[in-house]
Amino acid sequence: MLERLLCKLFNHKLIVIWSSKVSVSQKLYCTRCKRFYAINYDSETFFPWDYSFELMKIGENKNADKKINGC
Ligand SMILES: [Zn+2]
Repeated sequence: MLERLLCKLFNHKLIVIWSSKVSVSQKLYCTRCKRFYAINYDSETFFPWDYSFELMKIGENKNADKKINGC
């Protein structure tokens, strides 16, 4: 609880977990409040990471695998 308050006051301590190769999105992790977030630099939006982002990430990884297999 204190960590979340610190994040509100001083912003999150974010590290990049994953970067999308087809868009300008990244999965971020806050080392202070121990939560995942998604950022999109195109629309300058910042959200808590949720299931829909996880599906997008999985879908993109599947496409990447197909490309490797197709070569
Ligand atoms: Zn945080």
